[in-house]
Amino acid sequence: EGARAPDPSLQPRRAQAFGPAVDPLFYAEPIEVLRAEGVWITDTAGRTYLDAYNNVPCVGHAHPRVTTAIARQSRRINTHTRYLHPNAIELSERLIATCPPELDTVLLVNSGSEANDLAWRMATAVTGNRGGLCTDFAYHGITEAIAALSPEGWFGAPGPDHVATWAPHEALDAAIETLHARGHAPAAAILDGVVTSDGIHDLDPAHVRGLVQRTRASGGLWIADEVQSGHGRTGSHLWCFERFGIVPDFVTLGKPMGNGHPVAAVITRSEIVAQLVGRTTLFSTFGGNPVSAAAALAVLDVLEDERVLDRVQRTSKALLDALEVIDHPAIAEVRGVGLAVAVELDTEARAKAVRDEMRRLGVLIGTTGRGGNVLKIRPPLALDEPHVPTLTDALARALASIQGGPRS
Ligand code: PMP
Repeated sequence: EGARAPDPSLQPRRAQAFGPAVDPLFYAEPIEVLRAEGVWITDTAGRTYLDAYNNVPCVGHAHPRVTTAIARQSRRINTHTRYLHPNAIELSERLIATCPPELDTVLLVNSGSEANDLAWRMATAVTGNRGGLCTDFAYHGITEAIAALSPEGWFGAPGPDHVATWAPHEALDAAIETLHARGHAPAAAILDGVVTSDGIHDLDPAHVRGLVQRTRASGGLWIADEVQSGHGRTGSHLWCFERFGIVPDFVTLGKPMGNGHPVAAVITRSEIVAQLVGRTTLFSTFGGNPVSAAAALAVLDVLEDERVLDRVQRTSKALLDALEVIDHPAIAEVRGVGLAVAVELDTEARAKAVRDEMRRLGVLIGTTGRGGNVLKIRPPLALDEPHVPTLTDALARALASIQGGPRS
């Protein structure tokens, strides 16, 4: 494909067709993407960027084993789980085999939002409670029930009555008391194990265990949202909950599960699902279709065969070490777990300026956190040690190009 100038009609057409409520484009100068491979994204002008942002293509953009699995299965048959086909069954068995014995049942859906929505629905059904607990700048999804548990999207407005929030490093007793004062008992607490939208923090396992225990003592269940933190992101384990040494009641998977192909899941206990029998049916047309299941199986294969978790640990250490030596007065803190890494700056304006300057330099990152002042480095898990200097050199140059000194 020949390089060409960006199509100037796309931005106004996007605005017109998607309407004003849809999320804005990334970067002051948006990128018209053409193709990608591994950790590299190429735009229509033929320029290649290091992708240090996208967690969905977890084993690398366009990984041949995943694309081949998708193509092969889509040429054979793609249908739903009311016909017998081995893919979804094998995928579920493979997921169960990665979990403690209590987590013995898998429900396949199509997005992280849908997985969380289903977990929440089961939690309210089996506890009989209506209250929800989440961290105070969490994002868990787009459905009405899950948007209620996603303060990032509340735009500072008070949340719904049945939801109370806690800060990731705090206990959640006050939030539980708030719920009780409003006449609600908790059905569930939901936590992203690397608290991405809260600014990315490496949570203390003992603290998380305490949170789970308090939730259960108050009658609620625990939803481990592994949409960001699962599939090896932390490097030490396939699932983040394993780091915490607790067994959740629900584990929800999404984003990286199909390396870009839409597929998501809830892993839970059969005794929970048994309580729904006769009260509702659980069926999703696309959930567990043979093509999506083939994609998800290929991802699990690659994670194992390429020893991706080892690579994550190696790259994470190299990245955190290289970030530590960047000295700039705007840097408040460098932190992270595995390949979920945060560089907290003093202001949102500087974080945005650095992100946009890095894009001009050819490295893609994002920003996150309540203040919008945290640089979010959350690359495909294909990122390897040799890529690290490209990333950190661009960061150092971008920081040097912005105005330094104290908060202004
Ligand atoms: N949970 C977490 C932690 C997420 O980050 C997201 C998406 N950003 C979701 C759930 C929702 O996933 P989806 O967009 O696939 O519905």
